[in-house]
Amino acid sequence: MNILFDRLFDTQKNKKVFIKYLENKESLTYDRFLQEIKTSARYLQELGLKCEDRLAVQISKSHHVLTIYGACVQLGIIFIPLNTSYTHSEVDYFLTDSQCKLFVCQPEMEKEIIQNDKERKFTTKTIASDYEGSFFENMEKLTPLDFVEKRRENDIGAILYTSGTTGRSKGAMLTHKNLLSNAETLSKSWRFTEEDVLLHALPIYHTHGLFVATNIALITGCQMIFLKNFNSEEVIKALPDSTVMMGVPTFYTRLLKEKQFTKNLVGEMRLFISGSAPLLSETHQEFERVTGHQILERYGMTETNMITSNPYDGDRRAGTVGLALSEVNVRIVSLDGNNLFLKPNEIGVIEVKGPNVFAGYWQMPEKTKEEFRNDGFFITGDMGYLDENNYLTIVGRNKDLIITGGLNVYPKEIESTIDQIQEIEESAVIGVEHPDFGEGIIAVIIEKKDENVNNSELIKHLKLNLASFKIPKKIIKKNNLPRNSMGKVQKNLLRDEFKYIFKR
Ligand code: AMP
Repeated sequence: MNILFDRLFDTQKNKKVFIKYLENKESLTYDRFLQEIKTSARYLQELGLKCEDRLAVQISKSHHVLTIYGACVQLGIIFIPLNTSYTHSEVDYFLTDSQCKLFVCQPEMEKEIIQNDKERKFTTKTIASDYEGSFFENMEKLTPLDFVEKRRENDIGAILYTSGTTGRSKGAMLTHKNLLSNAETLSKSWRFTEEDVLLHALPIYHTHGLFVATNIALITGCQMIFLKNFNSEEVIKALPDSTVMMGVPTFYTRLLKEKQFTKNLVGEMRLFISGSAPLLSETHQEFERVTGHQILERYGMTETNMITSNPYDGDRRAGTVGLALSEVNVRIVSLDGNNLFLKPNEIGVIEVKGPNVFAGYWQMPEKTKEEFRNDGFFITGDMGYLDENNYLTIVGRNKDLIITGGLNVYPKEIESTIDQIQEIEESAVIGVEHPDFGEGIIAVIIEKKDENVNNSELIKHLKLNLASFKIPKKIIKKNNLPRNSMGKVQKNLLRDEFKYIFKR
């Protein structure tokens, strides 16, 4: 038995199109996809890879990443996708840490490895562009492999390295059950059918584009339009042929800036989903005004897959990430961990338990123990609250919490108040070392095009709405906020940039 392989890959979807590429109008049927998986599985077997060996992939976005993922699931090999922007020295850490057996990369990376890693214990194969590279050598002579390795639900299917903004990046071990249960739950919650066409402009080295998006497509047998990356022009071209889009909030704010982005353009669409970073309430409202669609916001993380979602039918509440998914338990716990039963609307640490939650960090038993409670709940490190109707609102990461003069301040509350000002596009509030207060609050603001915000007016507005200890001691204007590829604001970079500001 290997249910993950059976349910995602080895199904009778035949001649139906799985992936369509917009740039060259090429498409890949489910049939051909399965043949390529089975041929790749034969190839991996001939290279000597065995069940539970680790295979890392760092190539640009194409269905080949998914083919290798499928072949890994077929043979029980642990699949490790790597961010394509990682440099050689970063990659070196992941390959060593995971004791990787085969690394599929781009030719430039292979060159660096050959030059630098004389002692390496892994093999490299390359994928340059479509069907070019050493990975495909002799592939046409191979017959597809029908053998499928038996796997139990708690066996590890993939290791995803967390982005690791503090300390070492950790390898989150995801089991077959984690991946399958989340794909089943999400496809049902969001009403996916084989008639859907999912517009896919996300990277596929991250859980969002890889597991959320493609596992749902695979389990329902629907089609995906694959874009190399997000580009408003391409997305606008693809929208009339699509029914669902998944994105990070920046996708939606960028689309809203385009004149061609209208209600007419999205006539065939039934759903827009957002996640990976907070979607501003204003974006939610503006999107509804322009398109008539309410964006459905959901929340999850690499370690837990998806945790909550706004409902498909029913109230999609702007500013919240919705309700716990079926079979997923969410609770809010006091910061010191002593009170497991906070009341509605009380802010605390978000904890989660369910079939979606990972098995632990690869070769880090101590770290794993620290992040789980004795009763099996995983401590997400996000802060938030549940309201009377169990809708979850995130107020920021635990590490972004500011303690100023001994008082806790949640950046989100200040950011939301700042963002109410018409002339402001967005903001980020951080705390940095302050000689009197421990931490002093700084607000970094981005003005809308051609606007000029008056700082004293802004402070006046904040004073009307917030207690005095929450008022930023400095307001800094910038042209944009630093973001990673998933649209998350990199507050650690801002804290670094302004760490001496109160010391001058
Ligand atoms: P990653 O492991 O890269 O997927 O990052 C997970 C983190 O992204 C979570 O712990 C949250 O801090 C953040 N995140 C994901 N979805 C949302 C959302 N809808 N709103 C706010 N933050 C989110």
